[in-house]
Amino acid sequence: MFDAVSECRKCGKVVSFEQYERSKFCPDCGTFLPNPRQPKCWVFQFNPITYRWFDWVGEKRNIEQWLASQHTRQIHKKDKVAIWASGDKAGFYAIGEIETNPSKKPINQEQEKYWTKSTDVCKFQEKSSVIINM
Ligand SMILES: [Zn+2]
Repeated sequence: MFDAVSECRKCGKVVSFEQYERSKFCPDCGTFLPNPRQPKCWVFQFNPITYRWFDWVGEKRNIEQWLASQHTRQIHKKDKVAIWASGDKAGFYAIGEIETNPSKKPINQEQEKYWTKSTDVCKFQEKSSVIINM
């Protein structure tokens, strides 16, 4: 399905399986690389009432911050995501790739105004989130 990758624990460099076969050391910092893993695919779900995702995407945005409060330890850079809307327009609307490992950071200002409730915005300060590229 997806090509396996190995991620350097020290500097975060992602190495392809082919590269790993040639050298088991990080090309950037020389650290011994962990066994390659298959990227996983995650479903990120939103409710159009609380997050105006359709408006956000309508402005041709392709970089987006998502909460990764569940499975935080299993989610890795280079994993794939499918964006699912709940409610009246339920369905999958986009496919993306995770660009950063989960970490706690406040929601970016651009995206903040697309959330309709401040309690949801606060979750970004309490829980891990990732940046995805669609
Ligand atoms: Zn490295």
